Order: sequence, then C-alpha cells, then structure tokens
Amino acid sequence: MEKRVCGLCEETLDLTSFYNDERFYCIPCERYSARSRMRRYGRTLRGKAANALQTSRKTIRKNRYEVVDDLTLMDVIWVMATSEGCDYCGNVTNELQIDHIIPLSKGGGNTISNITLACAHENRSKHNRALLDWREYDDVAHVIEKVASRRGVSVAQVLEEFTP
Ligand SMILES: [Zn+2]
Ligand SMILES: [Zn+2]
Repeated sequence: MEKRVCGLCEETLDLTSFYNDERFYCIPCERYSARSRMRRYGRTLRGKAANALQTSRKTIRKNRYEVVDDLTLMDVIWVMATSEGCDYCGNVTNELQIDHIIPLSKGGGNTISNITLACAHENRSKHNRALLDWREYDDVAHVIEKVASRRGVSVAQVLEEFTP
C-alpha cells in the first residue's frame, strides 16, 4: 500500500490516514491544526466579533424573538475596535459581550444602534432590564451619548426610546 510522510508529525502512514491524496497532513494532524487555528482566530478581533455576533443570533433563535436583526460582522468589529473595555464599568477584559441596551426580550433589535459592549458581570447584572431601570441616568449617560453619536441623533432622541 502506498505510504506518505505526514508533514506535521512526520510519521510514515498509509494513504487512508489522509483525507485524500492531495493532503500533506494526516487526519489527526489536520484536526489538531484546525483546532489551534480556531483557537487563534477566537483571540483575534475578527474572531471575537464573530463569536459575539453568533452568540446574539443564537439567543434570538433559541427564544424565537421577533426583532430587527441587521447587525453585521463589520458593525461588531467596529464597536469592539473603538471600545476601551466594558462600557459600564470600564473593565478591560477579553470576554466582552454584546449588550442589547433595549433587551432583545423587550423587543430591542440586534442592530448597531442598540448594542454596546459589557463585561460578563455587568451583562448578567443588567440581564433583561431596560437601561434606566437598572442604573441611574448619571451612571450611564456616557453610554447614551455613545449610542447617540453612533446613530448621529441627539441624546434626547435616544433617551425617549430608552425611557421605559
Ligand atoms: Zn500527522
Ligand atoms: Zn463591566
């Protein structure tokens, strides 16, 4: 039987140990390198944004929320790239999550104008409360200003929507 040397582990193996005869890594090595590629990808900005976007889509599907969902990967990358950590407590962590300012469960959209970044702690704490049911205005004024500037509208206009 024809043999081939795997380019990664350098074992001499039967061709059946390869996905097909155009592959140079054996199957276990391909799986291993795919996993480590995914791990590396998960640490990049694009990977983090993709994960966060996927999580929000899962939540919508799982709960069958009928909400506007036009959030794109570029939107999330942009929000992440321009953020300096959790928008609520300022914590810089690798685990920033998308927070829906008007919760998805309350009809808020998965859309650029309704998201901000929160650490897992703040996201849990806010849970599905409206922003101003959760915190005093003064504590979240900076988030409201950020949302207004992302949308290019006035703070008053955003406030009107965010006031339960
Ligand atoms: Zn190998
Ligand atoms: Zn935080």
